[in-house]
Amino acid sequence: MFLENIPLAPRTTLGVGGLARFFAALTTITEVHAALVEAQQRSLPVFVLGGGSNLVVADAGWPGLVLAPQLTHQDGGIVGAGTDWNTFVDHCVAQNLAGVECLAGIPGTVGATPIQNVGAYGQEVSETIVSVTALDRQSLELRTFSKAECRFAYRQSRFNTDELGRWLIVEVTFQLQENATPALKYRDLVQHFEEAPHPTLAEVAAAVRQIRAKKGMVVDPHDPDSRSAGSFFKNPILEAPLVPDDAPRFAQPDGTVKVPAAWLIERSGLTRGETLAGGMGLSSKHILALVNQGGATSADVVEAAKRVQERVHQHWGVVLHPEPIFVGFSGSEALPEGATVISSAPPQ
Ligand SMILES: Cc1cc2nc3c(=O)[nH]c(=O)nc-3n(C[C@H](O)[C@H](O)[C@H](O)COP(=O)(O)OP(=O)(O)OC[C@H]3O[C@@H](n4cnc5c(N)ncnc54)[C@H](O)[C@@H]3O)c2cc1C
Repeated sequence: MFLENIPLAPRTTLGVGGLARFFAALTTITEVHAALVEAQQRSLPVFVLGGGSNLVVADAGWPGLVLAPQLTHQDGGIVGAGTDWNTFVDHCVAQNLAGVECLAGIPGTVGATPIQNVGAYGQEVSETIVSVTALDRQSLELRTFSKAECRFAYRQSRFNTDELGRWLIVEVTFQLQENATPALKYRDLVQHFEEAPHPTLAEVAAAVRQIRAKKGMVVDPHDPDSRSAGSFFKNPILEAPLVPDDAPRFAQPDGTVKVPAAWLIERSGLTRGETLAGGMGLSSKHILALVNQGGATSADVVEAAKRVQERVHQHWGVVLHPEPIFVGFSGSEALPEGATVISSAPPQ
């Protein structure tokens, strides 16, 4: 039933990583369930793969089963996890449904969006998610989480914190607003529409994609700067006294302050396009993206990320935490501080 020795690098946007010992792309919940049962019987560690756009896969690959749930059903706001995110955004925009137009251009699948509560240009997916239905990979039972139970926060949910790797999301239910005006909160977007301040949803989605493309933040085989995992570091949330005087600042409800990681990196002596380690460097368009400049290994990614962290720490005393998930590392490697890791080691 499973394919064998399948290269994972081409299934990720960063393009690094070794082989999946076993691989299955499955289109029904019944098949997914059966694959999980078989993996349990054969004691294979399972990794769930979406579009591979938020991953650093180890050069050693994954010694068990990589399962890609390609569930693409849709019934109103109920959307299968394997649905391409941009196809869903375009569908909403075409139906004049507001709520995800600013998230146009983010690569990957619908099922991965709740994992880190994807966000961009003033919108987060948690604003429109009603519930998430997932299979418990241990008990193999289905459970539906309300939005509150998902525990969404900035780039965070229960699915990438204390329950990392436990759930296989099968579908997400969204509630979008009919005929509502688009969200125009982000400075670049507001500027874009200065001359025509009442854009349609389609115009906003197109503008977001255009702005993102200029930063290499739309996956494009012709743009070497898009060979990345998107923004590599989260924006740090700092106690107010630690914020550099002239940094842009976004006050949080609890009194802390979110500071753009890109601003900190740009002013720490690193330059766009610079090679950092082996085949890895900084994007020439957007300093927050680490780019596979050609032939990079996952070891290069780790070294490059650590160099950025060190430089920012030396300069600002701030530790930037990586956003992508590190997959298949054994635990013995010295990974970047704050990295979220899905290890193939059996659960204790
Ligand atoms: C050019 C570029 C731009 C980006 N811009 C943004 C941005 O603006 N904002 C933003 O938030 N992110 C951004 N990202 C990051 C990424 O696109 C998102 O995090 C996306 O949601 C990941 O989806 P994926 O399907 O590729 O997931 P993958 O990378 O395949 O997986 C990511 C994690 O989700 C888990 N996962 C995937 N599917 C499921 C499932 N069905 N059930 C359980 N777990 C699952 C995986 O196990 C893994 O832990 C960008 C990435 C790139 C390359």
